[in-house]
Amino acid sequence: MARLIVVSGPSGSGKSSILKGLQGEVDFEFSVSATTRDPRPDEVHGVDYLFMDSQEFEELILGGDLLEWAIYNDNYYGTPAEPIEEALFDGRNVLLDIEIQGARQVRNSRPDALMIFIEPPSMEELERRLRKRGDTSESDIEARLGIVASQMKEASELFDHTVVNEDLDVATKEVANLIIANT
Ligand code: 5GP
Repeated sequence: MARLIVVSGPSGSGKSSILKGLQGEVDFEFSVSATTRDPRPDEVHGVDYLFMDSQEFEELILGGDLLEWAIYNDNYYGTPAEPIEEALFDGRNVLLDIEIQGARQVRNSRPDALMIFIEPPSMEELERRLRKRGDTSESDIEARLGIVASQMKEASELFDHTVVNEDLDVATKEVANLIIANT
């Protein structure tokens, strides 16, 4: 059965590398998001994103054309709904690489979506990295770990599966197996 697949994860989780590794291994297509951020040098309009200005994006919102949207880093990002419906109708899996506010919207509007969260290695590893930098006070380290911990807790309730990216190949295989087993 074709499914909508959502993959989210904080920066530093290695989500992009995992998604690259899935291509050719698992049967799915990427949803092409709309965004108002500037294209990076190697990015192609219509392939990596639909690049547009805020006015065009707001027209999509008002037209009800987006499955979900969010503001991330001062830019709009959103998933056009129609290509998703077409792909699912044709029996193709569609994968959304979106941040967590968008994932929450998809959870509500499409409870049937397969939702996978990618976590960076471990709290211990994160703590070790913060301490190694040596420029962060003890109270700041505690505060940051607290924020990450609460995000992880929220994610564990929102997503169907969490994959911890200790080792890229292992994590990629784990995500591939989840998709194969659940589509
Ligand atoms: P980047 O600007 O690095 O390509 O993406 C920044 C963040 O926006 C990433 O976490 C990515 O998953 C997320 N993102 C990309 N497209 C969408 C989208 O259509 N909707 C939402 N909610 N987030 C998106």
